[in-house]
Amino acid sequence: MRPNTLEITRCRDCHAEIFFAVTESGARQPLDAEPDPAGPVLARRGAGGWWLARAVQSVTDPNELHPLETRFMPHFATCRKRTRGTQEALPGFEAPSPAAARPRPDGGAAVAPLRRRRR
Ligand SMILES: [Zn+2]
Repeated sequence: MRPNTLEITRCRDCHAEIFFAVTESGARQPLDAEPDPAGPVLARRGAGGWWLARAVQSVTDPNELHPLETRFMPHFATCRKRTRGTQEALPGFEAPSPAAARPRPDGGAAVAPLRRRRR
């Protein structure tokens, strides 16, 4: 399963197609819109329309896998403009829903200069 066009937004930094999922800890995580069979994140659309994400590593029993779960890459891992993912970086991404997150009035000007360093 992959996100629909209403769920997909674009990374403000590299303009790649991404979507947001909520992790088990309640954080919002940007994922690449295109599923990746090698991705470390399992995500599926949950009740209420939010995508739910969890780490592949958290699954110890294959029987625990949800039939609709699909593997994705975290966008922080593939973003061409950002090399590290932090919660502080999230406001730099455009949110899919105006109610979920509002753009910062300063337009994100406080974000540190971009670096192209790769891990
Ligand atoms: Zn990006």
